[in-house]
Amino acid sequence: MATQPEVGVSDFVLLDNLTTETFIENLHLRFQHNKIYTYIGEVLVSVNPYKTLDIYGPQHMAQYRGREMFEVPPHVYAVADACQRVLRQQGRDTCVLISGESGAGKTEASKFIMKYIAANTTQVHREYIDRVKNVLIQSNTILETFGNAKTNRNDNSSRFGKYMDIHFDYKGDPVGGHISNYLLEKSRVVSLQPGERNFHSFYQLLSSNNPVLKKLGMSTNTAYKILGSERPTAHDSKLYSQTNSAFNALGFSNSVIEDIWNIVAGVILLGEVTFEGGEGGEEGGAVAAGAVAGAVRALGVAEAGLRAVLGRRVLAAGHDLVTKQHSLVDAHYTRLALAKAAYDRLFTWIVQQINKAIDVPAGTYKNTLIGVLDIYGFEIFETNSFEQFCINYCNEKLQQLFIELVLKQEQEEYAREGIQWTPVQYFNNRIICELIDAPHHGVIAIMDEACLNPTQITDQQLLEAMDKRLTGHRHYTSRQLAPTDKKLKHGVDFRITHYAGDVTYAITGFMDKNKDSLWQDLKRLLHSSSNASLAAMWPEGAADIQKTSRRPPSAASLFRSSLAALVAGLHSKEPFYVRCLKPNPLQAPSTWDPLLVQHQTAYLGLVENVRVRRAGFACRVRYDRFVQRYKMLSQYTWPNYRGHSPRDAAAVLLRDLRLDDVHYGHTKLFIRSAKTLQSLEAARAEL
Ligand code: ATP
Ligand code: MG
Repeated sequence: MATQPEVGVSDFVLLDNLTTETFIENLHLRFQHNKIYTYIGEVLVSVNPYKTLDIYGPQHMAQYRGREMFEVPPHVYAVADACQRVLRQQGRDTCVLISGESGAGKTEASKFIMKYIAANTTQVHREYIDRVKNVLIQSNTILETFGNAKTNRNDNSSRFGKYMDIHFDYKGDPVGGHISNYLLEKSRVVSLQPGERNFHSFYQLLSSNNPVLKKLGMSTNTAYKILGSERPTAHDSKLYSQTNSAFNALGFSNSVIEDIWNIVAGVILLGEVTFEGGEGGEEGGAVAAGAVAGAVRALGVAEAGLRAVLGRRVLAAGHDLVTKQHSLVDAHYTRLALAKAAYDRLFTWIVQQINKAIDVPAGTYKNTLIGVLDIYGFEIFETNSFEQFCINYCNEKLQQLFIELVLKQEQEEYAREGIQWTPVQYFNNRIICELIDAPHHGVIAIMDEACLNPTQITDQQLLEAMDKRLTGHRHYTSRQLAPTDKKLKHGVDFRITHYAGDVTYAITGFMDKNKDSLWQDLKRLLHSSSNASLAAMWPEGAADIQKTSRRPPSAASLFRSSLAALVAGLHSKEPFYVRCLKPNPLQAPSTWDPLLVQHQTAYLGLVENVRVRRAGFACRVRYDRFVQRYKMLSQYTWPNYRGHSPRDAAAVLLRDLRLDDVHYGHTKLFIRSAKTLQSLEAARAEL
């Protein structure tokens, strides 16, 4: 392929003088020329262009097929191709870890990767492969409908973490997949920030011609509370059709689809239920005032049953059952807990149904897989709560994995190639992971202990317990421990010094969100539903109230174990990284906000990444590829070298050019400094 004129450098290891400023300058220069992709070695840095670029068509895919990353301009397709090559040539599992803040382009990148992989198949069993490709791609539509929402940062923001395995047969063709979902932001169901929308599914249903609406007397124009200030649009209506086609393509039956939309309607209508009374005392419990009928019909439960669970709570006290009337506050709290839990469980259940549809059929040979991780980036807001704590913990774990794998990978390669090297030192964030997840002493363990305590522990008491145990930890501070720190509110805030920076968390709500328990009478109600899917989502509702005294695991510990499983799975794979950045907070094309870019560059550790990469070797390349790329630079190798091996050819070429800052591995040439690589590239460009 003809070499395109270079804009800045296409690999940051080639930067002349590496500083944050030169890094960002190069990124900006390339962005201005619509070069949104740049490498750090094999790590792809991607800047969201916020406009459609003509770089993703079939002819562009063709350019990347079977090419080494440095031979063609940086692209997300090159990463996908490299993954597939490792898979086909070495029979190894690979994964692509996509990170970046909300709106940076992670989900779009993951879709491009899937699209590339789906297009790059052999011609055998065409029909079968096409079906697999179709269901894999359609599954995204459903996930986005139920798990995405418009936020102030992204009109189509994923409010859950997603990891998808795509399985391949021995020829390297996709045969199926599996999706794992992480921590849906369910608080969105009941509370919205100004200017934000709820999950797309609510608006899609209300903009549709689904018979459920008529049955329940619902209308597009009603200002349901759950919708905030936003109304369904024509675009929602279009997306609704796509969602239903995707359901059909994945083989969801009509009755299941109807069940799903009924539950969505039920959650909307739960938002309409109001209460009165609630003065307390035996007869003074809050009662749901009118407006329950819709929710009752939508959810397929008994009206008396719904009224009962909202108005009072039945508790097991030894062998007896005790009824406690709800105050108004309790009744509201219960209604919100019910709506959140019903939607959250619906989402996870839908993912399980998708998995059934995309699972590799029994008897089909699974050989290798590519895992694609599209997960929330590091979050630092004005107020950071339990959700940010979990998300940032997740980022610590992934950073830890990055450190381990990058170091491991480099060291393994040097050993394999017989190259001597001295390891580079850089910050290892294991200490922060342990601050959060160490047994007994970590923040999660302390929170769990507080949740298990039979007496009600307040958020403030939890903070005191944390302060007591974590005193002296370099990465933990609270006002009590640092009385002069005016930025921390006494008894409310604690701060964790994450690898990506300081984050102050407000403890308010931690206990409640971590307990995340739904009372058994609510589970029983949902399990009793005539909506077969809803009943199936709540199997634990079949248990007796007295038999369920054991507390279910807390939200944070469930998250910790799902992350541990994820990380363990990723460990055994050859990783590729896509680091996404957004150029401005306005979702606007061509606007560059230097501070925002600098911030993301810092917390993704990009400059450090270049430094580490350069401290090892700026470039490692197979001898034949090296000779092919540079043979025109020497009369001894142009047009062809007559000697024995590509290794000899490379040596002759380098001697002729008087470049000696290289090491000869068994199969690859290792170029020590970026300068050497630059001079080779410059000489090539001059010809
Ligand atoms: P979140 O964490 O909120 O889910 P995200 O990182 O997944 O954010 P995306 O949804 O992938 O962000 O991207 C946000 C929007 O930016 C997209 O809806 C699209 O409009 C635009 N965008 C992202 N990547 C590209 C691209 N490569 N080309 C054109 N537009 C893009
Ligand atoms: Mg996303």
